[in-house]
Amino acid sequence: MGLFDWVFGFISKDLAIDLGTANTLIHIRGEGIVLDEPSMVALESANGDILAVGAEAKILYGKTPDSIRVVRPMKDGVIADFDVTQMMIRHFIRQVHQHKGARPKVIVAVPSGITPVEKRAVIEAAYESGARQINLIEEPMAAAIGAKIDIASTMGSMIVDIGGGTTEVAVISRSAIAYNESIRVAGDEMDEAIVRYLRTRYNLEVGIFEAERVKIAAGSASPLKQRLHVDVRGRDVVRGIPKQITLTDEILREALNEPINAIVGAITKALDNISPEFTTEIMERGIVLAGGGAILRGLGSRLHRETNLHIYRAREPLRAVVRGTGMVMENLGEYRQVCLN
Ligand code: ADP
Ligand code: MG
Repeated sequence: MGLFDWVFGFISKDLAIDLGTANTLIHIRGEGIVLDEPSMVALESANGDILAVGAEAKILYGKTPDSIRVVRPMKDGVIADFDVTQMMIRHFIRQVHQHKGARPKVIVAVPSGITPVEKRAVIEAAYESGARQINLIEEPMAAAIGAKIDIASTMGSMIVDIGGGTTEVAVISRSAIAYNESIRVAGDEMDEAIVRYLRTRYNLEVGIFEAERVKIAAGSASPLKQRLHVDVRGRDVVRGIPKQITLTDEILREALNEPINAIVGAITKALDNISPEFTTEIMERGIVLAGGGAILRGLGSRLHRETNLHIYRAREPLRAVVRGTGMVMENLGEYRQVCLN
């Protein structure tokens, strides 16, 4: 390491990034989580210039003229738009790391199904933002570390990360992912299921973020002790005028039935496919849930009923991946082998 690298390394704050389909989070060494923003970008349609990133872009969604596009570049668990993803990463890194000439070390958590081309796109974006060393880690591994699972144990542990675009089911043992099942059904698909349900059942057309709001307010995966109500607003499809109706947790459960079944199915399929040795160990250790979808009411009890296993929720499920990535960054010596590159 030359003097230049040493000096700039010294003033550079190393970063751990959770590049999620719904949310991007950044942890800085010694400071904790400094950024937590929707993975969204608002662009000028004509020339592709960035108008807003993160929460500022999300506010614009569905409310801009045709000359402005608001996109989620990582939709469906993959990098759907390379260029915009790169711009977004650059923007976020610069936002938390204003030091000119800073050369931080960066670890990025990426979906486990990421292709070599996508890996290169992420690495390139981080380099262009000034990073001097870049490591990648798979999200389920980061989630497991962030959920305080003993990943180095020879005993298998199951982690289920329910994000925006994908649900990832993984069995981790000896610091490696021994089994991995990924489906493109997670929080976004729940929102879309609510939109479809309201349109067919109530002739009510609602925006995707209104659907997300009611999901968070009163959605569930199994019957609740207490009844919940939430008002939802949209447009009457037939008459074309505004309309508001009140939904119950029961109605929302029916609306969410399909995506919830798919998520349960991915977990039971994984349990069906792993070795009997892992099954025995997971019966002892249970399943840990992470990601925003893990917060859905009644999901733990639903999964317990379907699998007969103990179900635990990671502390602060939305932050498990960035927390784990931060732990890897701060103890790279110990965790070197869990990195992809
Ligand atoms: P990603 O890793 O793909 O960025 P996150 O782990 O950030 O995804 O989770 C985002 C998803 O979690 C969104 O679909 C969001 O609607 C959902 N979510 C957040 N909070 C809740 C909640 N309280 N109940 C149900 N779903 C939630
Ligand atoms: Mg995630």
